[in-house]
Amino acid sequence: MKKHNFYAGPSILSQYTIRNTAEAVLNFDNMGLSILEISHRSKQFQAVIDEADALVKELLDIPEGYSVLWLGGGASMQFAMVPMNLLAKKAGYLDTGVWASKAIKEAKLFGDVDVVASSKDRNYTYIPRDFTVPQDCDYFHYTSNNTIYGTELRKDPDAGRVRLVADMSSDIFSRKFDVSKYDLIYAGAQKNLAPSGVTIVIVRNDALGHSGRVLPTMLNYETHVKKGSMFNTPPVLPIFAALQTLRWYKEQGGVEALEKRDLAKAAKLYEAIDSSRMFVATVPNHEDRSIMNVCFVMKPEYKELEGAFLDFAGEHGMVGVKGHRDVGGFRASLYNALPMESVDALIECMREFQAKY
Ligand SMILES: *Cc1c(COP(=O)(O)O)cnc(C)c1O
Repeated sequence: MKKHNFYAGPSILSQYTIRNTAEAVLNFDNMGLSILEISHRSKQFQAVIDEADALVKELLDIPEGYSVLWLGGGASMQFAMVPMNLLAKKAGYLDTGVWASKAIKEAKLFGDVDVVASSKDRNYTYIPRDFTVPQDCDYFHYTSNNTIYGTELRKDPDAGRVRLVADMSSDIFSRKFDVSKYDLIYAGAQKNLAPSGVTIVIVRNDALGHSGRVLPTMLNYETHVKKGSMFNTPPVLPIFAALQTLRWYKEQGGVEALEKRDLAKAAKLYEAIDSSRMFVATVPNHEDRSIMNVCFVMKPEYKELEGAFLDFAGEHGMVGVKGHRDVGGFRASLYNALPMESVDALIECMREFQAKY
């Protein structure tokens, strides 16, 4: 049976990425060796990381003066690296979920943190819009897409003169944004780019070196900027896979084309949920709804059917639609590599289930 992959992360990758990576595991670049066993200092791998850097810059339209880094440690390590490197006195944070709260917790180890607004009062089912960022902050951090709750800020928040830092782990490459407003952007690769094991960091070079802090070598962005992400052994295989996805993104027409498709996929699924008898979206405000992670539950009168729907969906080839334990219900992640065909299959599955009960 055809499987439809709605996992939230690690998550669906393009067939182009998977096939080329599988091939390189057997024979990388006609070296007669596997990508798993070659030196990261080989000229063949240098070409991979160079092209991956260049494609990130091209696809996101990154201006001069920024570096693209490929780091280990996951997005979670960035929760600490960001304040270590950028927080001198005070930073502003927007609390929109578990990931944002984890970032806030780490930042507090390094300075004053002003949590300008939080949506915790309603289990993070909306994006706070009514806040002001104190203008003496070193930066303002927000999470652009809240993977667990299915909320998203699709427009850069207004932080006045304060420069932006964003965790874009689960929506990078799904929308156009103006990199020049940002000091730093980070994204764990396993949501929209590659297998787990690598995190992309895009950093404005001028933002570094002002924290007044002595930093461990590996936790200092400047180390990785100077050495082109090759100070130590980078995650070779995930970077190779990321390159395949980036090539595929370019071939698909770039971020603008991906965004158009993502918007259409999400609109279709939300429409099916909103018009259904049994299901209801957990994020009421349309403006706050994520186009990457669509969260929904059974209406109260059908609550006891949630388990039955999960079983039914599984029997029909739907994988990974169980909601996060903090939200319950269902979550369909519609990352860039997920085809419209899978959205249609899920909608059909929901229709059949409703007809049955
Ligand atoms: C998954 C996720 C993280 C955590 O990523 P790790 O790579 O597992 O550390 C952080 N932020 C967001 C928005 C995520 O979706």
